[in-house]
Amino acid sequence: SSQQQYPNAVSPRNEESCVHGPSEIIVGVLGGGQLGRMLCQAASEMAIKIIVLDPQENCPASSLAYHHMVGSFDDSTTVQEFAKRCGVLTFEIEHVDAATLEKLEKQGVECQPKASTVRIIQDKYQQKVHFSQHDIPLPEFSRIEDLEGAKKVGEHFGYPLMIKSRRLAYDGRGNAVAKSEEELSSAVDALGGFDRGLYAEKWAPFIKELAVIVARGRDNTISCYPVVETIHRDNICHIVKAPANVKWKIRERATEVAFNAVNSLEGAGVFAVELFLTEDGQVLLNEVAPRPHNSGHHTIESCYTSQYEQHLRAVAGLPLGDPSMKTPAAIMYNILGEEEGELGFQLAHQLMKRALTVPGASVHWYDKPEMRKQRKMGHITIVGPSLRNLERNLATIIEEKASDDK
Ligand code: ATP
Ligand code: MG
Ligand code: MG
Repeated sequence: SSQQQYPNAVSPRNEESCVHGPSEIIVGVLGGGQLGRMLCQAASEMAIKIIVLDPQENCPASSLAYHHMVGSFDDSTTVQEFAKRCGVLTFEIEHVDAATLEKLEKQGVECQPKASTVRIIQDKYQQKVHFSQHDIPLPEFSRIEDLEGAKKVGEHFGYPLMIKSRRLAYDGRGNAVAKSEEELSSAVDALGGFDRGLYAEKWAPFIKELAVIVARGRDNTISCYPVVETIHRDNICHIVKAPANVKWKIRERATEVAFNAVNSLEGAGVFAVELFLTEDGQVLLNEVAPRPHNSGHHTIESCYTSQYEQHLRAVAGLPLGDPSMKTPAAIMYNILGEEEGELGFQLAHQLMKRALTVPGASVHWYDKPEMRKQRKMGHITIVGPSLRNLERNLATIIEEKASDDK
């Protein structure tokens, strides 16, 4: 059985052979989406073996992983079975079973980042409480249990008011905005009602959104990637510009907030810190993802060490790499599903074909079996001499597409 194949959760080898690669540890990844896929790509360069746990037979990481165990990363028995095969357990999605990770840690299984981090991050309200206790600046927030309570919070924070699901949010799917008190109940309904567990956040009047990827090694060294600007459309990450075009003081502050946020969490790996920049130069924390992140896709082409390689180095206990940029500028464009089904695939295909004609552009396609509107299907990264230059190149790719649509 495959279990016998991994007796010590290290690479199988002949009796005669010794360790040849940088690490023979088998890295187990909970989740096999695009982030897992790009982890596998980075792992292949150093011949680090990744096994993934994902319920979907043909998930994006499946074809590139050393082994794919088909099963739920939210099912305790399955995760425990999976853990037996891993030298270190990590994840590409934070919506995993924290209690099981805690139990595994007690049994001596190496989880990176730590289960305590998953516990804090996966409940957004708990996450905000944690960061406010660590003096990280963030928009004011409050628990809401019923409509009366929400109205009181609305009076206090003002409108528009952001209502968020505490759990299982991604791509803005757990967010609803109430523009006035009258819209409160429809916003709450849109998120499935108070029973789902909601909280309210004061509207952050940001002029830009920034993000910083922070890496921590098993030896506790911390290393920060350059600050980037993220541009969201309908709450979904759409474009990332690196480095962020803001004053160095702001970059310094963003890096400081990100460092402090990650420093308050436990475990090795990369962490993405999403930030708001306000008109008066304040940097506020939005949320932290304890894993590789959309805002770090550009690092594959633009940095000496990509966020994926960095995550592997970190969890495997290898030295961290250089996070600095090896190109003056990079821009990342998400290929989101525009239409369901075949038409959607065709539109994406045309977009990628145009991108392939642009110097400095790299195309990433995640090979998801189904096309859905607004789904992240792939991305394009362009590197070059300046953001201005790259914005022009990106405009060509997108505008040509607009004319194709006619
Ligand atoms: P992700 O895909 O990044 O995990 P998510 O579903 O967890 O997204 P958030 O990061 O909470 O959602 O919010 C998504 C976007 O909504 C933010 O990037 C920002 O553009 C907007 N947003 C979130 N909170 C606020 C706020 N308090 N005020 C104004 N805009 C906000
Ligand atoms: Mg999120
Ligand atoms: Mg977010």
